[in-house]
Parts: sequence; C-alpha cells; structure tokens
Amino acid sequence: MADYDYIVVGAGSAGCVLANRLTEDGRSRVLLLEAGPKDTSMWINIPVGFTKLLNSSKYNWNFQTEPEPNAAGRTIPVPRGKTLGGSSSINGMLYVRGNPLDYNTWSQYGNRGWSYDSVLPYFNKAEHFETAVDDTRGTGGPLNVAPMRERAELLDAFIDAGVGEGFPRNADYNNGQQEGFGYFQVTQKNGERWSTARGFLDPIRDRPNLRIETEAMALRVLLEGKRAVGVAYMQGGTVVEARCDREVILAAGAVKSPHLLELSGIGQPTLLQSLGIPVQHELRGVGENYRDHYAPRMNWRVKLPVTLNEQTRGLNFVKEIFKYYTKRTGILTFTAGIAYGFVRTRPELEEPDVQFHFAHASYANAQSRVLDKQPGMTLTVYQCRPESKGSIHAKNSDPFAAPAIRPNYLADPFDQRVLVEGMKIGRRIIENKALDKYRAYEMNPGDKIQTDAEWLQFARETGQTTYHVIGTCKMGQDPMAVVDDTLRVRGIEGLRVVDASIMPTVPSGNTNAAVIMIAEKGADMIKASAKAQAMA
Ligand SMILES: Cc1cc2nc3c(=O)[nH]c(=O)nc-3n(C[C@H](O)[C@H](O)[C@H](O)COP(=O)(O)OP(=O)(O)OC[C@H]3O[C@@H](n4cnc5c(N)ncnc54)[C@H](O)[C@@H]3O)c2cc1C
Repeated sequence: MADYDYIVVGAGSAGCVLANRLTEDGRSRVLLLEAGPKDTSMWINIPVGFTKLLNSSKYNWNFQTEPEPNAAGRTIPVPRGKTLGGSSSINGMLYVRGNPLDYNTWSQYGNRGWSYDSVLPYFNKAEHFETAVDDTRGTGGPLNVAPMRERAELLDAFIDAGVGEGFPRNADYNNGQQEGFGYFQVTQKNGERWSTARGFLDPIRDRPNLRIETEAMALRVLLEGKRAVGVAYMQGGTVVEARCDREVILAAGAVKSPHLLELSGIGQPTLLQSLGIPVQHELRGVGENYRDHYAPRMNWRVKLPVTLNEQTRGLNFVKEIFKYYTKRTGILTFTAGIAYGFVRTRPELEEPDVQFHFAHASYANAQSRVLDKQPGMTLTVYQCRPESKGSIHAKNSDPFAAPAIRPNYLADPFDQRVLVEGMKIGRRIIENKALDKYRAYEMNPGDKIQTDAEWLQFARETGQTTYHVIGTCKMGQDPMAVVDDTLRVRGIEGLRVVDASIMPTVPSGNTNAAVIMIAEKGADMIKASAKAQAMA
C-alpha cells in the first residue's frame, strides 16, 4: 500500500478546496504539495496589499510572455500566486461567477454536467455570501463573499454615469443577470482577504489524514505505463518520490499544470523529443488553447481631491491605517477594481460582451501601481469572451525553468472590434454628465485618439493581462482536449487536472469563483470514482 490515496499538486484556489473535500471523510489520505512558502505575509491579509504582491519575488512566480506579435512586440508580466492559496492569495479579490452563457457553452461543446444549472449548486456550496437574499447565492460555505466595505462619491458617480448612458443599475451581477453597473463583491471577511487557504485549508489543517508540504516543487508525475502512480518533488534540495493508490491531481494552475504534463512526457511528441523529454503519451492539446482577458487601461485627471491618489499620502494615510487596524474599514480594504460595468457593445446581443473595472485612483505604470500625486481615475476595459488563443510550452527539460508563454492577444479581428467598441463606450460613460463635477481631462489615451485604427493601436501598445489565464489543459471531446468531462487526462489512468486550465473558454468575468466551483465539482467526481471502484 502506498502512503497516500491522493496527491494534489498545488495548494492554490483549486488545490485548497480539493484538500478539504477529499479529506472530509476522515479516511482518505491526501498529500498536498505547494511549491511556495506558507502564506504568512501581512500583505496577503490586508486587501490593499494586493499591489505589493504583484511583483513579490517570494509569493509570485513572476512569469512573463514572449514578445507578443499583436501587442506591439511587448513582453507582458504574468503574475501567479506561489504560496498557500496560490493566486487567491495575491489576487484582486473580485468575486465574479461569470455568465450562465459561459457554462451552457461548455455544455454545448459536449461536456456533460457543466451547464449553468449543473454548476450552480457548486458555486453555492463553496460560498457564504454575507448578503444573500435568495437561493441563487450560497450561505454557510467556506468561501466568504462580502459586499465592498466602503463606498466613495466618485464611485457612486461612475455607477450613475453608466445608468445615465442607458445601462441598468445591478445590485447582484452574480445571480445570473450580469448586465449593468454597481460595486464589486469581494472574497473578504471582516475586511481581510479570504483566500482558499483561509477558507478551506486553515480550518482543517490538523486533520490526521492530510499532509501539507510547502516549498515542495513537483518535478514530474511518476508513470507506470499509462498509469500515474505518484509525483517526484524537490524539497530542501532533496528529490522525494511520493506514491498514491488512487489518483494524482494536478492543481498547479493554467501555467504550471500543462508544463508539468510536458515535463512528465505527456504532450506533443515532436516538441517533447526536441527538448529531450522521453514521450510517454501523445496529447496534442497540452499547452494549447491559452486564453485570457487582455485589457487597456484608460485614465483621467480628476478636479477634486476625492481619489485614492491623495488619500494614500501623508496624514490622510496614517488616519486610514489607524481606521483599518481599529475597525477593519477604510481605503485599505479596497482592491484593484471597485465598481464594475457589464455592457453589450451592440443592442442585438443577448448578453454583455465587455466588462469594466473602475477605480478612483490612477497610476502611470500599470505594473508597479505607484499612484499618481494628482487626483485621478482609471477605467479598465476588456472583452468578456475573447476568441484569440495562444499557448504555453516547456522551453527545455528543466522543471525550474519558466515555460514559454504566448497568449496571442488580439490575434482575432473579432476581439479587436469588440475591444475598440468597449473603449469607445467607456469614454462615453466617463463623459456622461454624472461625472462633470469630477472629470478634468482624459490622460490616456487622450483626445488625439479618435478613429478605430487609433483605438486599436492604443490597445496594442498599452494592454495588460487581467490575470485570467485559463484553458491550457482544456476539457472536451475533440482531438485537442486534454481532459474529459470528469477531468481525467485522456489516455492516462489515475491522473486528473482540476484547476483553471480545464476551462474550454474563458468565463465572462474574473476567474477565481469559477476555479473554486470546478474544484468543488472535481472533488465530487473523484469521490464518486472511488465509490464506484470500491463497489466493483
Ligand atoms: C495578480 C492576480 C490578480 C487576480 N485578480 C483576480 C480577481 O480579482 N478576481 C478573480 O476572480 N480572479 C483573479 N485572478 C485570477 C484567479 O485568482 C485565478 O484564476 C485562480 O486563482 C487560479 O486558480 P488555480 O487553482 O487554477 O491556480 P493557482 O491559484 O495559481 O494555484 C496554483 C498553485 O500551484 C502551485 N504550483 C505550481 N507549480 C507547482 C509545482 N510544480 N509544484 C508544487 N506546486 C506548484 C502554485 O505555487 C500555486 O500555489 C487574479 C490572478 C492574479 C495572479
């Protein structure tokens, strides 16, 4: 008998859910491997610490793309969490389930059990929504979801401006009706970040059937023929081989799960051979279908001192720190985007195709996020369901070397058109009379940008990831599918992928909620297999 029943690789958004659910019977023995350190930094707990973690060398893998052909040849940073909680420990905390259309599309591709009606119980099971009013939302789950704790007059005015332009005011964009404007909901509790490590792992860390290893970097899946039997990992300079009786579950995220499959000899044979990795199993889709939300950021100078730019300086900031430490309120509870908009760029569309994030703050450098000295506001614009697809592949056989990331943003002319329309609507909203009192002038892109070609060029030159990498081990039935609709790697026994990489298409929104839903559903499918095996 091996030491474990299950080995879960990666303690991120998905991995922490899996570790909790798979050990709740008190019998199944689970090893959870995490490459990063424990999640002890105060910047993880304090929401505004998000900006500190964007470039952290300790808690972030700090990947970056290869030069992007349709984004002015730039290399674009791709942050990913590297600690307990994974990216849910460094993310912007915005809780967005996506649109029912997203999951009905997955189902329409032939993935049984993934329609909106089928996945809704798993969104609800995971969550405790503090202000739930009906059964479209969950209560009592480990993932705390809260309304934004603070309001601000400029944020209210932005929402009024959206309504002024003919879009609805929407109190809950997560109940199946996405269109409209309002404040984001956040994965926070009492003004602190609520990562999956906080929600799913902390309460059950001392279960005797769960072993958590941090700073334990999985190197490859151990295979015996076409069956996964364990994982080789490096910890403290030593290579350890852990074995399991039932399943290895990759939950290393959309960058590292396909990378680990390739390092294990599962992928495109010609590529693997060229890297000197012995081919164990051909699966052409590994690392393909990379999808993400690509977003230019527009910003404006503001006339009045009502923005975070001034409030995070001098005595004002000292007062805010005091407020946070005494009441867990104030601007330290804010995160990346604060107010949202979901809009249809054409009236004949059934569902929104563009998402806005709005913040009463501005910064010249999107990556460092150092706020401007003068008051400012920022609108981030992205297409909900882009068609452009890229890839991620090992560059060599070294497990510690970063893979080559090629998102191929804006490759599809359809995406170019939708994004340009989205930015134009964004400008219209900010120019609505509800914002007259605040708006000074547009800094980026500025009045000089007027034609569609100019808008597109602005998007190419300034867009960044909104961190929603998915799809690189996609679920499906076609030859490029990596996992089937029970998340099993096709053609290999005892191996599943359960994380953002299994999504066939990107949901219309921020991806953490969908990953957690996938892990809840994945855990049930894994348990069902064990039960079926026991009865056979
Ligand atoms: C900066 C940032 C901001 C974001 N903002 C939001 C937001 O506001 N709202 C939202 O909904 N989504 C947001 N997202 C996206 C969301 O957080 C992710 O989609 C989600 O967390 C992905 O979950 P995952 O389980 O697939 O991967 P992750 O959570 O990234 O987990 C993967 C884990 O595996 C570990 N791992 C990787 N390789 C190995 C290995 N070889 N051995 C052992 N462990 C390994 C990693 O260290 C990590 O802990 C953001 C993401 C980032 C990075």
